[in-house]
Amino acid sequence: MEIRVAAKTQVPAVEGWFTLDPDRPALLGSRCRGCGIVCFPREASFCRNPACTSREFDEVELSRTGRLWSFTDNRYQPPPPYVSPEPFEPYAIAAVELEAEQMVVLGQLVDGVDVADLHAGDPVELVLDTLYRDDEHEYLVWKWRPIVGEVTA
Ligand SMILES: [Zn+2]
Repeated sequence: MEIRVAAKTQVPAVEGWFTLDPDRPALLGSRCRGCGIVCFPREASFCRNPACTSREFDEVELSRTGRLWSFTDNRYQPPPPYVSPEPFEPYAIAAVELEAEQMVVLGQLVDGVDVADLHAGDPVELVLDTLYRDDEHEYLVWKWRPIVGEVTA
């Protein structure tokens, strides 16, 4: 799946991990037909539930919103094969709890988020953003964006 914008083609940095819907992007997981547990990234061969022998899975879109479970600043450029923009810009990374799926998904926070302003439990939503570019493509990845305006308990 490709979305043409200007001269560059937007493609996922990792194929098949999320939808490319610009308004409502979603991570793609798998739900086991045997026991119902949801996994991300998708499981295609064996269920991660040791008590389950099913090998059949349905693709499911995960919740687009969750709550901050943990977060930190990354101030060091990750080594290859991770591809970083040059020059390297520090970014914030978050572990986000998806309530419905009972799982935690890691991801970068959108640019401009100061971790000093964040609190565990803050609501965030999934967005797509450019991870890096080459001459022809923009490589997209999911990021978490704080939802402002919601009163948190
Ligand atoms: Zn299972």
